[in-house]
Amino acid sequence: LQIPLTIFLTGGSGFIGSNFINYLFDNCPDISIINYDALTYAANQKALTQQKNNPNYHFIHGNICDLPTVTDAITTTNPDIIINFAAESHVDRSITDASPFISTNIQGVYNLLEICRKHDDLKFIQISTDEVYGTLGPDGFFTEASPIKPRSPYAASKASADLLTLAWHETYGLPVNITRCTNNYGPWQHPEKLIPMTIQRCLQKEKIPVYGNGLNVRDWIHVSDHCSGIATVMQNGKVGEVYNIGSKNEWKNLDLVKKIINITRDLTGDPGVSENLISFVPDRQGHDFRYAIDPDKITRELSWCPKITFKEGLVKTIRWYLKQQE
Ligand code: NAD
Repeated sequence: LQIPLTIFLTGGSGFIGSNFINYLFDNCPDISIINYDALTYAANQKALTQQKNNPNYHFIHGNICDLPTVTDAITTTNPDIIINFAAESHVDRSITDASPFISTNIQGVYNLLEICRKHDDLKFIQISTDEVYGTLGPDGFFTEASPIKPRSPYAASKASADLLTLAWHETYGLPVNITRCTNNYGPWQHPEKLIPMTIQRCLQKEKIPVYGNGLNVRDWIHVSDHCSGIATVMQNGKVGEVYNIGSKNEWKNLDLVKKIINITRDLTGDPGVSENLISFVPDRQGHDFRYAIDPDKITRELSWCPKITFKEGLVKTIRWYLKQQE
């Protein structure tokens, strides 16, 4: 990989950030990464155990909303690029209390943009989500040209950050990119999210809650494919551009849960892991019906494509959670 020498990465102790750090060091051991993370409930430092003795990995405990601290961290480490993974990321939590989403996902990004503005040639990549586009009917895909129509407090906070990022590019000429990815799965995801929660409930033979009628559709990508997509944008992304990252892998929630149950039963040989565990619960407020992303732009312009099939990725992920259980 041809990538910047020093990367200031925020939120690197979360699910995707930690996978990204491990991915970069696996592919490019000479780079230097500063992981700046507030260590909220969503962080898990164990995901970075393999970097413990890596002299090129540095951790700073800090909040992106704390302007003096984050300014100081960036000024002293003098990075070539900032990649922002830090966020409040769980839709259900945003419905219960949006306030931390407004602080971290909007004010925090504003702080980072302002710091970049005061440093020449400091690139900024904002890690965003397909949820900024809102919801789709049964047909069609979101492209980078689709209107921004967020519907949950989480999505609205991420959309705000995207718009700030683009405005800082247009107004101040900041060299930015935005990546918008579909739902991720893989190792180290917080168990509040659908796939790890389902795996964990299977292993403990507890009821698996499925919202509404389970027919809502999500588009899934393995986290390592997301990481390779971000690395591609970091190397070759055209300044000011937005890139969707997805693997055209749509599943109805109910079918996905059944698939996980069946694979887990096959892997554990436990007949108690069955579809009888499924329990329908009242639908999420304002539940988006379908997300699906067209990744044609990043494929065509930057020659990126996902590598992991869903079957392979799910088996790998379930095996990983089984191992953690042990
Ligand atoms: P996560 O919730 O697992 O991790 C977030 C990390 O950010 C945690 O380590 C947390 O401690 C840190 N953090 C939170 N607030 C902070 C603050 N104020 N200052 C510094 N650090 C802070 O999230 P994730 O699933 O790894 O998602 C990472 C990014 O990718 C987010 O921006 C999210 O919107 C985006 N994204 C996620 C998905 C997905 O499926 N998980 C899909 C598309 C985009």
